[in-house]
Amino acid sequence: MTADIRIPPQALYIIETLNQKGFEAYVVGGCVRDSLLGKTPQDWDITTSASPQEVKAIFGRTIDTGIAHGTVTVMRGGEGYEVTTYRIDGEYEDGRHPKSVVFTTKLAEDLRRRDFTINAMAYHHGEGLVDLFHGISDLEERRICCVGNAMDRFREDALRILRAIRFSAQLGFDIESETAVALKALAPNLARVSKERIQMELTKILESPNPGHIKMVFSQGIAPFLSESFSGIHAETMFIDRELPGLRHLRWAAFLLHGTPEDAEKILRELKMDNDTVNAVKLLVRWWKIPAGTDEQTLRKTMSQMTKEEFDHLLIMKRFTREIPESHEELDRIGELTCLIRDRGDCVSLKTMALTGRDLIEMGMKPGRAMGQVLGELFDLVLQYPEMNKREKLEKEAEKLIKKFT
Ligand code: ATP
Ligand code: MG
Repeated sequence: MTADIRIPPQALYIIETLNQKGFEAYVVGGCVRDSLLGKTPQDWDITTSASPQEVKAIFGRTIDTGIAHGTVTVMRGGEGYEVTTYRIDGEYEDGRHPKSVVFTTKLAEDLRRRDFTINAMAYHHGEGLVDLFHGISDLEERRICCVGNAMDRFREDALRILRAIRFSAQLGFDIESETAVALKALAPNLARVSKERIQMELTKILESPNPGHIKMVFSQGIAPFLSESFSGIHAETMFIDRELPGLRHLRWAAFLLHGTPEDAEKILRELKMDNDTVNAVKLLVRWWKIPAGTDEQTLRKTMSQMTKEEFDHLLIMKRFTREIPESHEELDRIGELTCLIRDRGDCVSLKTMALTGRDLIEMGMKPGRAMGQVLGELFDLVLQYPEMNKREKLEKEAEKLIKKFT
């Protein structure tokens, strides 16, 4: 593996400016790892011997992103680059250690505090790669391995246990044996890690090209320490198709499919998942095993129960899920009918019905239960017979219904 790392011009400018002022500076961590793997890094983190105050003094436009941990974001060309002072302490997640940070002037010490060998490499365009912990050979052997003693590292910060599984899922790597033993042994420490951080790692595992690696959480005895109801998930029957698009709600739904929508909500709420995702997952878990309908009427009825996007995602979900009530031929047919219904502009939402509550009020109805019933019956009619969605036709029907319900 050769170090072919192309640092973007703005990051290069930051490094060279720091160097000119007499400080060391390197790109470090994820961007080095990803570059060596031939992937385009999402962001370029810089590590430096300069203190946060010195970084701020050198660059005009900065943001105090994580100044307490030594991180300053330097703004260049509309983008932010995180510049972090060499430090010794990690921000420990286990609730026992103080969240203190000790700065240092030695790159080696900064690299030693990092979690995995593949994440503990630094690079400078003049000096080349700094790889003190066999990061390159672990990349080549496709292996997740702690920097130093695995037991100590997981004891310092139990979140690293999930990070190990997360990187193994994202990269398709194995976990080195000592790291694997320690991960299992220290799983109980995860009980003290914040639910948000746990959720973020689980989400990254599920969104990865290897979502099935989530099973490791169960096989390694980690699940009971993640949240109260997490270990109730039936991991044995779980199957997540890697072709299922890597969207958060789709992957979480695939993971929670075999429970009830209420189970799914409970698990996600415990993990502090955002409302939109919780609702999207609940909808998919509720609907995946209900036939969407292979005739237009049933299909319109199903479509009327959710937004356009939700319906599209339900069809995607079904496409990549086993044990659904439809065959793949039927799913194709449903796809065609859906296009037809949409192209024709059939009404599948109360919002586009040609008669509204306001119209009913004009016809003499008062807002309330009866009005809801009339609207409901009219909507059912329109879903059955889309040609009924004309104002005059619905007015006639409404007159009959008003008599029936009042
Ligand atoms: P991603 O692509 O997910 O951002 P990353 O490697 O950049 O991957 P980050 O969580 O952004 O991961 O962290 C940046 C770097 O900081 C890591 O590469 C690693 O060197 C170090 N790091 C992050 N979290 C920890 C931790 N909990 N313990 C030790 N080092 C960590
Ligand atoms: Mg990162």
